[in-house]
Amino acid sequence: MNDFPNYRGDLFYECQECGAHYDGDRLYYTCPKCKGVFLLKDKNFTQLEEIPGKKWREIFDARLKVKDNALRGIFRYYELIAPVFEREDIVYLGEGNTPIIEVNSKLRKYIGQNFFYKNDGQNPSASFKDRGMACAFSFLKYLIRKFNWSEILTICASTGDTSASAAMYAAYVNGAIKSVVLLPQGKVTPQQLAQPLGSGALVIELPGVFDDCMKVVEFLADNYRVALLNSKNAWRILGQESYAYEIAQWFDWELENKVVFVPIGNAGNITAVVNGFLKLYALGIIKKLPKVIGVQSEHADPVFRYYSLPKEKRVYTPVKVSPSVAQAAMIGNPVSFPRVQSIVEEYERKGGDFYVVQVEEQEIIEGMLIANKHGHIACTQGGECLAGLIRAKELNLLESKEEAILDATAHMLKFIGFQKMYFENNFPPEYKIKPKPEFQNYPLQVLDMETKKQLSWEEFVQKAGEKIVEILGIIPRKEA
Ligand SMILES: *Cc1c(COP(=O)(O)O)cnc(C)c1O
Ligand SMILES: [Zn+2]
Repeated sequence: MNDFPNYRGDLFYECQECGAHYDGDRLYYTCPKCKGVFLLKDKNFTQLEEIPGKKWREIFDARLKVKDNALRGIFRYYELIAPVFEREDIVYLGEGNTPIIEVNSKLRKYIGQNFFYKNDGQNPSASFKDRGMACAFSFLKYLIRKFNWSEILTICASTGDTSASAAMYAAYVNGAIKSVVLLPQGKVTPQQLAQPLGSGALVIELPGVFDDCMKVVEFLADNYRVALLNSKNAWRILGQESYAYEIAQWFDWELENKVVFVPIGNAGNITAVVNGFLKLYALGIIKKLPKVIGVQSEHADPVFRYYSLPKEKRVYTPVKVSPSVAQAAMIGNPVSFPRVQSIVEEYERKGGDFYVVQVEEQEIIEGMLIANKHGHIACTQGGECLAGLIRAKELNLLESKEEAILDATAHMLKFIGFQKMYFENNFPPEYKIKPKPEFQNYPLQVLDMETKKQLSWEEFVQKAGEKIVEILGIIPRKEA
C-alpha cells in the first residue's frame, strides 16, 4: 500500500475565546486558560496552499479508486483532516462516503425546488457522528502509540447518537480504549439506548436532559483523567468536515447555486460543514462557497435567536428546551456556539452566505414523513432540514435555480417512536403536534385470532384472500 499520503501537518489547538495556541499532541478538549472551545489548525497549511486546486481535485478523485480502508472513508481527504496520523492509527468501520439522492419529480414539484438528501444515516452506527468519532479514535490510537500509554478511558454525554458511535468504535479498538456514556434518562430512543448497550459500553443514566449530562461529563473531564468524546473534542469536528468535502466532490467541485441545510443541536456539525467548505475554498479546490442554512426547532433555538438579530444587536443567550421530535438536536446551550460565531464571520468575509431558520415541531415531523413517503430514509432531523427548506423558500432565501442538499443526519429507524406517536395520535401535549390524516398510516387488520381459530387452514386462506381482494378492489385473473 504505497498510496498513503506523505504530507505531514503540524496541528495545534486554537482557542476560539482567548486565541491561545497549544500543541496538537495534547489530550485537551477546552482551553486550560479560559475553558474556551478549540479548533485544530495546521501550521503547515501554507504548504498545501502551494499546490493548485486542480491538482488537489485530481488527488482526491484518484483516491476514489484506492483499495485501502485507511483511505476509503473520511481520510480520503487525509491532508485536510488530520495529517498527523500514520496508517496504523486510522480506524475505519465504513464511515463516510454516504450517498446523495436526488428527490423524485413528485417531491420536487410538491416542494417547488430541486433538492437532494445526503443520507448520513447510512454510516455504520446510522448517524453522521461516526465521521467525527473515526477521527477522534484515530487520534487516541495515535496518542497511545506515540506516548506508550496503556489505557484511555473515554466519556461522553449524548442525545443518543454520540454514545452509539463512541461505544461502537471503542468496542472495535478494544483493549486500551474503554468507553463510558452518560445519557439523559428517557430522553434517547430505545434504538439509541440499545446501541451502546449492545457494544458493551458502560451506560450511565442521569435524570434530566442532555445539558445536565454534559455538565457532569465536564466535571469529570476537568478533574479526572478521561478523554471527552463530545463535540467539544476538536478532533471530532475535523472528521465531520468530510461531509462538506464529499458534497463538493460529488458535484465535481462546483458549488455555485448549491444550498446546504444542516440541523443545529450542539452546533458541532454546522461548524464542521462551514469549516470544511472554507478549507476547500482556501486551497482553490472550489471557486464558490455554497449557501449554508442551519435549521433549529422553535423548542431549542438559541442559534436561530442569535442570528435573527441585526449584527450589532446580537447577543447569545442559552434557552431552556422543550420536548422536540428533533431530539438529537434538542440542546439549549450548544457547546460549539463560539466556534460557529468565529467561523461564520470568516465565511461571510469570504463571500459565503449563512442563515439560520426556525421551524415548528409539526413541520419537522411532517418533513420526515413527506421525505420518507417519497423514498428517503430521513430521521426527524432530516425532516427538520426539509421543514427548513420550506421555511427558507417562504423567506425568499432561495432562488429557483438553486439546488439544496439536506442532511439526513441519522437513519429513520432510530426515530420510529415519533412516527408511531404521529400515526397513533398520542403525542404528549408539550410537542403541540396534531396529526393530519393524510400523513397517517396503520397496518390494516383482516380477520382476528378468534375467527382464525374457528376456521380450517383452507377456509382461512380463502377468507383472508377474499378480504384482501375486497380491500384492494383487484379483478380476477382471466383463464390462461
Ligand atoms: C448529533 C446530532 C445532531 C446535531 O448535531 P450537532 O453537531 O450537535 O449540531 C443532529 N442530528 C442527529 C441525528 C444527531 O445525532
Ligand atoms: Zn482560551
